Amino acid sequence: MKKVVKFGGSSLASAEQFKKVGDIIRSDAERQYVVPSAPGKRHSADTKVTDLLYACYAKAESGKDFKAELKEIKERYEEIIKGLKLDLSLNEQFKTIEKDFKEKAGDNYAASRGEFLNGIIMASYLGYEFIDAAEVIFFDEAGEFDSEKTNRVLSERLSKTERAVIPGFYGAYADGRVKTFSRGGSDITGSIVSRAAKADVYENWTDVSGFLVADPRIIDTPPVIDTITYRELRELSYMGATVLHEDAIFPVRREGIPINIRNTNMPEDRGTWIVESTCQKSKYVITGIAGKKGFCSVNIEKDMMNSEIGFGRKVLQAFEDNGISFEHVPSGIDTMTVFVHQDDFIDKEQKVVSAIHRLADPDTIDIESDLALVAVVGRGMKSTRGTAGRIFSALAHANINVRMIDQGSSELNIIIGVSNDDFDNTIRAIYNIFVEVQL
Ligand code: ASP
Repeated sequence: MKKVVKFGGSSLASAEQFKKVGDIIRSDAERQYVVPSAPGKRHSADTKVTDLLYACYAKAESGKDFKAELKEIKERYEEIIKGLKLDLSLNEQFKTIEKDFKEKAGDNYAASRGEFLNGIIMASYLGYEFIDAAEVIFFDEAGEFDSEKTNRVLSERLSKTERAVIPGFYGAYADGRVKTFSRGGSDITGSIVSRAAKADVYENWTDVSGFLVADPRIIDTPPVIDTITYRELRELSYMGATVLHEDAIFPVRREGIPINIRNTNMPEDRGTWIVESTCQKSKYVITGIAGKKGFCSVNIEKDMMNSEIGFGRKVLQAFEDNGISFEHVPSGIDTMTVFVHQDDFIDKEQKVVSAIHRLADPDTIDIESDLALVAVVGRGMKSTRGTAGRIFSALAHANINVRMIDQGSSELNIIIGVSNDDFDNTIRAIYNIFVEVQL
């Protein structure tokens, strides 16, 4: 067995946290490749090193003095080095960084130094080889991640080293210029390394014991999801559940490598397993509930719409022409509804309405605002009768007016539209009927 382990910023925020990470890695010889983030917050009022780096570089770029900011960053690392009693100095690296900042090396380069420096410390602490991600992770000229070149170079490199630290979050263009992934991108690096190493599992260590069935800001201590499929996870993350970067599943998914979300502060917890497919039933019929506020619905009516070929295309073209992406399109015999993000839509609504009139000639168009969408996700719904019925009777009992229902044909999810004001109560009502009753 071969494992790739990625540790998030809160797991590496201080020497104390580093020690926990060291214990976790040393307790299992299969944990061969380590992907660290930059040091995160030590307490809630603290600032992540990545954010310090962005701020420091912004000063450098505008030609202001940035010595104090860089010193603060250096002190964060020195505190860790001292706490771990390492014989290591980062003076040379900081000299280079100062020079590069003066020469305006770019904010991607600046931000990447958080992981770069933490990787050097981690490698020294573990006695593992350090591999600079800029040498093994590549972007093409258009700035897109170059998965095949990366996989070729990285697997070749890893085949020559049994244990290594590869910093997360960045790679480089063919000419060596550093580029980062989007925020939280060390999760992606972990996945890329897992694929290249042909790992048996990708362990993603963070500060929670896995994905929760529902948002803990709405539900008091919801249970952890034991096992979730990649597809269920996509549905839930799209609807706002965050723990793992959305793009992190793609490299491992194509190789069938499971991801195990674990808690650095409670290493004995089993965490959540993210898998391609499973015959394990989820405990509660549903796997999870998530949702987002701030949608508008555009309801378009036209008599005999059902027999008019091309009507849907014309309506959607009006959105496309105005650069608006749609979220859901439930439809009836003579109605079609398009859900869009309110913030994107608000400035363009009249343009879209007139375009729909021009292109599709409907009878009426009616816009509703301040709507929320709630997704009830679960592979178990397919084989359980009455799930939708239970949801709607629970919502009726809670006095919630359901404005839209959309069940994907995969029967993996049911999307419910309610008003923003009913958002929390909708989640509570659904949670109570499926989860709370079984706890
Ligand atoms: N340090 C980077 C960030 O804060 C990347 C990461 O932690 O995954 O976004």
